[in-house]
Amino acid sequence: MAEIETIVSLAKRRGFVFQSSEIYGGFGSFWDYGPLGVELKNNIKRAWWRSVIYERDDMVGLDSSILMNRLVWKYSGHEDTFSDPMVDCRQCKSRLRADKIEDNKCPVCGSKNLTPPRPFNLMFRTTVGPVEDDSGMAYLRPETAQGIFVNYKNVLDSTNRKLPFGIAQIGKSFRNEITTGNFIFRTREFEQMEIEYFVKPPHGLAEGEASDDEHHERWLEDRYNWYLSLGIRQSDLRKFEQPKEELAHYSKRTVDLQYRFFPERDEEEKQWDELEGIANRTDYDLKAHSKKPLDAEGKRLNADSTADLTYFDQATNQHLFPYVIEPSAGVDRSVLAFLLNAYHEEEVRGEKRVVLRLHNELAPIKIAVLPLAKNKDGIVKLAKDIKARLQRTGAMRAVYDDTAGIGKLYRRQDEVGTPLCLTVDHQSLEDNQVTIRDRDSMLQERIPIAEVETTIRTKLGLAT
Ligand code: ATP
Repeated sequence: MAEIETIVSLAKRRGFVFQSSEIYGGFGSFWDYGPLGVELKNNIKRAWWRSVIYERDDMVGLDSSILMNRLVWKYSGHEDTFSDPMVDCRQCKSRLRADKIEDNKCPVCGSKNLTPPRPFNLMFRTTVGPVEDDSGMAYLRPETAQGIFVNYKNVLDSTNRKLPFGIAQIGKSFRNEITTGNFIFRTREFEQMEIEYFVKPPHGLAEGEASDDEHHERWLEDRYNWYLSLGIRQSDLRKFEQPKEELAHYSKRTVDLQYRFFPERDEEEKQWDELEGIANRTDYDLKAHSKKPLDAEGKRLNADSTADLTYFDQATNQHLFPYVIEPSAGVDRSVLAFLLNAYHEEEVRGEKRVVLRLHNELAPIKIAVLPLAKNKDGIVKLAKDIKARLQRTGAMRAVYDDTAGIGKLYRRQDEVGTPLCLTVDHQSLEDNQVTIRDRDSMLQERIPIAEVETTIRTKLGLAT
């Protein structure tokens, strides 16, 4: 299995990921996605969207704003509790996350002269409008989830949904992490793919309805299988039950899907880290944002909200707050996991061959059209025509390349995970046939030009 360092170097060399503001020396753990990275990232997001919305009957999408009314973060609890414990090393002045330190020792200089931990709020602040005072203060969202909760009623009213149903959203989130690192694993700006799935609470269940626990279990299986369906090896993906004492205050149960991001670490337990968290958030958020419930004296607990976020259940004739199952995945961590998982090195005829065995659906380029002799007019024209025809289908990203000999052209495409190469040679001009080469088996097959599109669609698993 590849190590992150190998992926960092491939990512930069081939245009998957660059350091942000690199020409000015970089910038604290921000990264830019290059020409191939953006394709991979978009393909991951598209595959997720298809799986959680188009292939189901009970889900809809949303795209909420990054900056929201500050009250959202007050009532969600983030203003008070969205913090990590921070310590300073008095020796080397490093700032460290207290819960990631071993033996109370600074990992930078080894000193044990550390301050006591204190909470550090991870939300970035900015000001909205022309006056730079507290009245315009806003936070960059640290999760996309709250945008879903504050739109829950809008979605419910505009779509006439009944429980259970869910809302999915993909978008940027920002956290002023105390310590970052491991490439795109932990950054201060990242993208999330989140689902809030609203279900009947335990006390509102009618005969035969699935409970919140059962829905939680189903999402766990669905999400786990999604990664496997896109090629993640089962031996490198596991479910990790968060210990009760470490659960977030809103969570009844959280299970993380962990990937073996760090195979180079000696201790097996340290090789794994979170790829996606799947939590049962109960009715915590909807209650917190609702003008109900009332306290013992009949006063509203949320004095600022104008919305009643209860749900009227016709089956049991009562108002209730739905429970929420939240599968929350990171796009950037998925990119990293898929790259680590796909990376292979092998020796072919004494030469190192690097190949990314990415799933067809994720591969940034689906097919490369390569002329075998670039100075022959007829061959170049035919290759360009075939590429243009494939491009016009709108179904696949096709590229044309004639800037090297065929061996090098194949290696280039293998290294970025292109599943198919199509080669045009002298004989193609006479017999109207071209060669299709498969990335994984390296087998070559001669097919009639008239059948190129259907053959490629079949091989890539696209609709014909
Ligand atoms: P961690 O414990 O690793 O800090 P978390 O438990 O705080 O993560 P969640 O709040 O559950 O993370 O966020 C859901 C998902 O968002 C994570 O599983 C991860 O994929 C992604 N994510 C969270 N923080 C970051 C970050 N700083 N950089 C990249 N991805 C992140």
